[in-house]
Amino acid sequence: MAKSLWAPWRLEYITQADEQEGCVFCEEGAGALAPERSLLVRDGADAIVLVNKYPYSSGHVMVAPRRHVGELSGLAEAEVLEVHALAVAAVSTLGLLYGPDGFNLGWNLGRAAGAGIADHVHLHVVPRWVGDTNFMPVLADVKVVPEHLLVTRDRLREAWPTE
Ligand SMILES: [Zn+2]
Repeated sequence: MAKSLWAPWRLEYITQADEQEGCVFCEEGAGALAPERSLLVRDGADAIVLVNKYPYSSGHVMVAPRRHVGELSGLAEAEVLEVHALAVAAVSTLGLLYGPDGFNLGWNLGRAAGAGIADHVHLHVVPRWVGDTNFMPVLADVKVVPEHLLVTRDRLREAWPTE
């Protein structure tokens, strides 16, 4: 089973996880570090799209407002609209590229709901395939993701609909 896993980047993240501070979406987090520019797929006026560096499946992206906002109710109307529009574009683009059988879109609000980055709200867009009901994460903290994150980013950037 373990031999079928191919996720070399995860090791890098495991070793870096304890050193990371601040917000991956903006520079206003605690550590004031630059956002994860290398994972950026789409840079909108009020919202951005990032490849999730802890993907649940291939093509797992996150849409977030540009502003460091921790409450869903704190979003301005323009942010709500652009987050939604980017999520719709992500579904379309991922549909073309990966041909999944379905999608999960969702907000994890607060750590109790599973939010890894609780103080900057973000919408997950997760392609799903029939039969991918991941039993692996139940058995161990391991997810089978067959494509490198930066390859996913490049494919999405290239295929993203032009405005
Ligand atoms: Zn932030």
